[in-house]
Amino acid sequence: MKEGVKIIEKVAIYPGSFDPITYGHIDIIERGLEIFDKVIVAIAHNAEKRSLFTVEERLEMVKTVFRETPDVIVVSFKGLLVDYVAKTNAKVILRGLRATSDFEYEFHMASMNRSLNTHLDTLFMMTSKDYFFVSSRTIKEVASLGGAVDGLVPDLVVTRLKEKFKLPVNKRKQIGWDD
Ligand code: ADP
Repeated sequence: MKEGVKIIEKVAIYPGSFDPITYGHIDIIERGLEIFDKVIVAIAHNAEKRSLFTVEERLEMVKTVFRETPDVIVVSFKGLLVDYVAKTNAKVILRGLRATSDFEYEFHMASMNRSLNTHLDTLFMMTSKDYFFVSSRTIKEVASLGGAVDGLVPDLVVTRLKEKFKLPVNKRKQIGWDD
């Protein structure tokens, strides 16, 4: 190494609901690791969004999926993403883009985050052709109706979905997701 050359670790933060994590998310994280030294997967406590899995359950699933990948750090956060990012050494927000329908929301969020913190940039990665139709929402819908989601989410998530949807409907309402 040349004297005086400082190697700075490149860290990206990948925020989302991950309710639950899918192979679409995993593909973005793995491709993110080709560019960044570390990817922080940041699971949002989002009071407005009804979730099927608790934050603890989502954390456990993502941590298990990446248990052998130390460069993936899994955390949860409350409040504004930019405030959380400021507590980390991430300089870039990583997001996936599936279709034009994702674009408008993502464009607004990226612009808002940049206006809140001008040092923070958002990097978008195009979904892979195998997962462009995969969203946590459709996974939950299909699984709730007894459809197979194998190959679209890790086996662990298939098991957790089966456990959730064994619950009677009134219990599902209690945990906040009843669509
Ligand atoms: P969703 O509930 O829509 O699956 P999340 O809030 O968990 O989404 O998403 C976190 C990020 O991952 C977002 O940038 C979202 O666009 C992206 N993402 C979700 N699914 C995919 C996919 N199949 N391919 C690429 N990016 C995805």
